[in-house]
Amino acid sequence: MTSLTDRDDADYEQRRRETVWNELVPERRPAAIARPSRRSEVAGLVRQAAEDDRRVAIKSGGHNWFGTFLRDDSLLIDLGGLAAVEVDVDRRVATVEPGATHKVLADALVPHGLAFPIGHCPSVGLGGYLLAGGMGWNLGEWGPGAWNVVGADVVLPDGSETFVDETTDRELFWALRGASSGFPGVVTRFHLRLFRLPEIRSRLVAFPVDLLPRLLPWASARLAQLGAGLEISLIARPANPARDRRALVAVVATGFAGDDAGARALVDRGLAGLEELGEPAVDLGTASLALNDLEGEGGWDEGLRYAADTCWLSTDYAEVGEVVARAAASSPSPLSRIVLAFGHMPADRPDVAFTGFGDLTVNIYGTWEHADDDGANVAWVQEHMDALAPLIEGHYIGETDLSAVPARLRMAYPADKWERLQAVVAATDPQRRFHSFLGED
Ligand SMILES: Cc1cc2nc3c(=O)[nH]c(=O)nc-3n(C[C@H](O)[C@H](O)[C@H](O)COP(=O)(O)OP(=O)(O)OC[C@H]3O[C@@H](n4cnc5c(N)ncnc54)[C@H](O)[C@@H]3O)c2cc1C
Repeated sequence: MTSLTDRDDADYEQRRRETVWNELVPERRPAAIARPSRRSEVAGLVRQAAEDDRRVAIKSGGHNWFGTFLRDDSLLIDLGGLAAVEVDVDRRVATVEPGATHKVLADALVPHGLAFPIGHCPSVGLGGYLLAGGMGWNLGEWGPGAWNVVGADVVLPDGSETFVDETTDRELFWALRGASSGFPGVVTRFHLRLFRLPEIRSRLVAFPVDLLPRLLPWASARLAQLGAGLEISLIARPANPARDRRALVAVVATGFAGDDAGARALVDRGLAGLEELGEPAVDLGTASLALNDLEGEGGWDEGLRYAADTCWLSTDYAEVGEVVARAAASSPSPLSRIVLAFGHMPADRPDVAFTGFGDLTVNIYGTWEHADDDGANVAWVQEHMDALAPLIEGHYIGETDLSAVPARLRMAYPADKWERLQAVVAATDPQRRFHSFLGED
């Protein structure tokens, strides 16, 4: 049964805060928060919102960095309790409810020898991730998560329920795969194409952060030579005197192959010659990884305050390296990090709303403990994203900060895709029952 919390209820503020994974909770207040316990309850909630003349906002895992689903005076439908996953091993298809996390999906797939491009934090919800695009593991072979959505059960603005795929509604299906908060419906279940589970090997080698301007061009050239099945990320972290750590950049190579020897060979070839660039401060050697244990470098702790922003670019890596090295050196918090991930997506790209703009994503993640430090850390993220501005080719809608710079929205979609999305929304939700992108409405 759906549980409903109104703004007048004593536990409203606690419930509101609990929807946001980040401790930095925006000051936007829905009129009510509904938590359905079954998929079949969602349509009734949307119809009720229409009767009450309320707009609807939707939350799945609550991991959007900026709490986009918190909208003043809306009905917030919190799908966090809808987390069922079913795997059809023969057809290699999984059906997943939107509140399921990456970890829940991976745990269901691994025993069957199957895989899906899950993201880099096990507790992220699948709903928002898949709708935004889904920049997951083994991007070079599998493509982003959204490419592998083959259909979805959707509640439309009038409260009707429909199944959306290539054959039933081509335009809505196009929007489903990348429109993020601009999608004009509630997805109550995704149908996902699965892959054979690969063997995975990874190695982390860390250097002083001032080596970044040389490491970035090196990693770019290396990846271009090796192609799919190998990922190289660079993770810059500020000095942490409490842990006796100086500012470092970790180079992480991850190989995906049909057998362990193949995965190991990819990693070895990927990092060959790295030692010529300088003396490593840390070398963790090559380790075997499980898809349901891919925590990502350093993990993501709960109970902290986060600010984030993300961009794509593909030129002048030496300059990017200078900016990122400066950012790491000047971070107000030792907990922050900057992740630079190279991703050559497969050349055969489906027609979807999601767009990747360059070869390199730069993700700046401010991370700190106390509310008094909010201003300095939010400003640090934006200052360094601004410093990259002349090189930026686009932003990833799943992680860019529209609350800081609303104009980033138009840099998340090429002009023709933006127009096409507006047409889908006008046709599907002419009364704008559903809230759209933060800053748009
Ligand atoms: C620690 C961390 C690590 C991350 N790593 C990655 C990564 O590796 N790759 C990557 O691509 N992204 C990553 N992200 C970003 C993440 O994918 C997005 O924040 C995504 O929105 C999270 O999904 P969610 O279900 O928690 O979204 P929510 O925060 O619940 O929702 C975000 C928005 O999506 C829309 N939405 C959500 N569910 C539905 C639905 N069922 N129907 C209709 N609209 C819906 C709503 O507009 C909502 O406001 C990461 C985020 C965090 C916090």
